[in-house]
Amino acid sequence: MKRDEKIFDLIRQEKERQMHGIELIASENFVSEQVLEAMGSVMTNKYAEGYPGKRYYGGCQIVDQSEQVAIDRACQLFGATFANVQPHSGAQANMAVFQAVMNAGDTFMGLDLSHGGHLSHGSPVNASGILYKPVAYHVNKETGMVDYDEMEKIALECKPKLIVAGASAYSRDWDYARMRAIADQVGAILMADVSHPAGLIARGLLNDPLKYCHIITTTTHKTLRGPRGGMILMREDFADPQGRTTPKGEVKMMSALINSAVFPGVQGGPLEHVIASKAVAFGEALSDEYMAYIQQVKKNASVMAQAFIDKGYYIISGGTDNHSMLIDLRSKFPEVTGKMVENTLVLADITVNKNMVPFDSRSPFLTSGLRIGTPAITTRGLKEDKMPMIVELIDDVISAIDPAVKTAPEAKINAVRAEVNKLMSDYPLFAW
Ligand SMILES: *Cc1c(COP(=O)(O)O)cnc(C)c1O
Repeated sequence: MKRDEKIFDLIRQEKERQMHGIELIASENFVSEQVLEAMGSVMTNKYAEGYPGKRYYGGCQIVDQSEQVAIDRACQLFGATFANVQPHSGAQANMAVFQAVMNAGDTFMGLDLSHGGHLSHGSPVNASGILYKPVAYHVNKETGMVDYDEMEKIALECKPKLIVAGASAYSRDWDYARMRAIADQVGAILMADVSHPAGLIARGLLNDPLKYCHIITTTTHKTLRGPRGGMILMREDFADPQGRTTPKGEVKMMSALINSAVFPGVQGGPLEHVIASKAVAFGEALSDEYMAYIQQVKKNASVMAQAFIDKGYYIISGGTDNHSMLIDLRSKFPEVTGKMVENTLVLADITVNKNMVPFDSRSPFLTSGLRIGTPAITTRGLKEDKMPMIVELIDDVISAIDPAVKTAPEAKINAVRAEVNKLMSDYPLFAW
C-alpha cells in the first residue's frame, strides 16, 4: 500500500504545532512514548465484546490479560475494588452509569453547564438531557463555590435518583461528605465525575471521592495523562436500590448493572489498543515520577493563579485547589470577550479556551471567561518560576486587544509568538 502522505503530513504539522506552543487547555496533556506506542498497536485488530474471561469472540486470551492489568492498576490507583475500563470517552462512561442507575424520564442533579458543569451532566443537547430529567445546582454568586445549601434545598424538592458531583471548569475541591448526606436524605445515588482532577485525586492531592460516592467516572486523558478514553470505578459494590432482579430472581449488583450498561448498553466492541494504553498510563500514574509531576501541576496552577490576581484579574472563587482556573475577563477588560482572547492568543501560539463564567452576561459563543490549566505545560517540564512570565505574555496580548477589531496589532502578536517559541524550544516534548 502506498504511504498516505496527505495524512502523515498533517500529523507532522500537528506535532510541530504542539511543540512550538504554550498549551494551557486545562483538559489536555501530552502522553508518553509508551502510551502512544500501545495505542498504535495491533491490539486495534481484536474484537473482544464482553469482559475478560467472558467474551463473545475467540482469540481473546491475550487481550483478556491486558484488560485485566488495566482493571487491576485502575483499582490500585484509586483504592477501588471495581473498574470498567471500556468506556470510549468520559461522556460514554457517564451515559453508562445513567443507564445503570436510572430509567428514562428519571430526575437527576448536576452542576449547571454555565457554572462549570459538563455537557454530559444534563445539557438539553446531550443524551443526558434528552433521556432524563436534569435539574441544575449552582455556584454561589459571591463566593464562586458550589452552593451546597441550595443543592440540598433542590434535592429535597425534586427527589433525584442520582446526584452528580464534578465539573469541567471549577477550580475548587468538592465536599463529598456533605453531598453524600444530601443524597442519603433523598435516597439518591451519589456519583462523582472526576474527569478533570483524576490525577490529583489518585495521588491524594484532593479529597477522596470514593470515601463517600457510590460510583466515580473519569476520563483517562486529562490530568491522568493516558490515552483518550473513560472509565467507571467503585470502592464497594452494592445491590441495585431499585431492586431489579436477575433471571434467577436475585437482586442485581451495581457492578453487573454497570458492566451491562457499558456493553451492550451503550457500546459495542471495546478498544483493546486504547485499554492496553490505559494500563500503561495507570502504571505510570502509580510511579514516583508521576507523583512529582502531579504535585508540580498543582504548584504551577497556584503560582499562575496568584500571578493573574497580581495583574488585576479576578479568578472565580478567588483561587485554585487543583490544576485549573477560570478567569473573569470583565474584572480587567470589560469590553474584551473570551472569544477575542482565545482567537488572538492562538495567533501567538498560546492555546487556551474561552469559557462561560457563572452568571455570565455574554453568550456561550462569546463568553466573558478564560479557562486555563497547567497539566500540559508541566509535562513539558515548566516549573513554577516560569508561570509569572507566561502570565506576563498573556496579559501583554490581552492588553493590546482592540475590542473594535477584536484582536491585537500584528507586531505585538509576532513579538509574543517569538518569545513563546523561544521558551518552548528549551522544553522538548519528551514523547518525540
Ligand atoms: C472532559 C469531561 C467529560 C467528557 O469527556 P470526553 O472524553 O470528552 O467524552 C465528562 N465530564 C467532565 C466533567 C469532563 O470534564
